[in-house]
Amino acid sequence: MTDRSVSPTMSGHMIARTPAGWQPESWQRELAEGYRLPAELLAALGLDAAMHADVDFDPHNPFPQRVPLSYVQRMRRGDPSDPLLRQVLPLLSERAPSPAGYGRDPVGDLDAALAPGVLHKYQGRALLIATGACAVHCRYCFRRHFPYADAPGASEWKSALATLTDHKDVYEIILSGGDPLALTTHRLAALIERITVLPQLRRLRLHTRLPVVLPARIDQALLTLLANTRLKTVMVIHANHANEIDTQVRSALVELATAGVTLLNQSVLLQGVNDDAAALAALSEALFDAGVTPYYLHLLDRVEGSAHFEVPTHEALQIHAQLRALLPGYLVPRLVREEPGAPAKTPVF
Ligand SMILES: *Cc1c(COP(=O)(O)O)cnc(C)c1O
Ligand code: SF4
Repeated sequence: MTDRSVSPTMSGHMIARTPAGWQPESWQRELAEGYRLPAELLAALGLDAAMHADVDFDPHNPFPQRVPLSYVQRMRRGDPSDPLLRQVLPLLSERAPSPAGYGRDPVGDLDAALAPGVLHKYQGRALLIATGACAVHCRYCFRRHFPYADAPGASEWKSALATLTDHKDVYEIILSGGDPLALTTHRLAALIERITVLPQLRRLRLHTRLPVVLPARIDQALLTLLANTRLKTVMVIHANHANEIDTQVRSALVELATAGVTLLNQSVLLQGVNDDAAALAALSEALFDAGVTPYYLHLLDRVEGSAHFEVPTHEALQIHAQLRALLPGYLVPRLVREEPGAPAKTPVF
């Protein structure tokens, strides 16, 4: 993603589209107070910036650090290899020349666009880029180079959905981004309302990391919105490590389940974060305790700047085999990779 992907509260851009007299929701204030400077983040964790020559302190980083306070509170103090810290701290290795096979659009998203902001790669489902903004900038993200200028605003949503009107074989709309829950509830409600009128639609899916990185986002207004659509609602959250699921996250997830939302999780297999079977087993257990079923374990998308996170495929297979030996089958996520042009996520055997 680019420097255009600023949060609703920081840009003023989305505030301008909401009614007069509107006040930021409390989660938005929390979002605006997140850590933006690596030196501040290290200091908050009791780490000495001068000791960390591998960190990218450039204040003009085109994919800047972004992490909410509540996520930082789940990091271990004094531990530079904390698995949550590793996911968000910009490193100089991101600027190293990329190995062969790495690119800016490794999953072929730019070729799958049906209309600006609408991706139709797989049968029955279409993915809508609801916003370019995210509450957190995950350093391995395959969307770090995505041209978010094309993310639809209200008028573009209208034409995107008009395109979908003609696709009678699309039963499910996936709201993605960026992070669809970075939209205000007001804007999200307007989008869902437009989606709901498409008669062929049965399911609404949200791909979001907000319940994990900013559980305050799961407020009453959002729960009411999700509980009251005629569509079956599925939420695919994104957690990579058991330490991401604390009490507050668990309550947010339980509330979503109570509102009738089916909860799944996708993770990315990341070197130095979750590349061992015991860590992944603990994650599956923590997810299940919170009412979430493990869905996918993705091999890293080969996006420029993320090579230091890659777990080689043969190691991934070993880890996954060990995981299958540790857990009941329903707690083992499917190991997949995304291949441009494939009809589905590709299972890795
Ligand atoms: C991953 C993805 C989906 C969802 O795939 P599922 O296997 O149904 O989870 C849909 N559309 C696009 C463009 C995707 O990248
Ligand atoms: S929340 Fe998702 S889309 Fe946003 S930076 Fe992280 S991985 Fe990428």
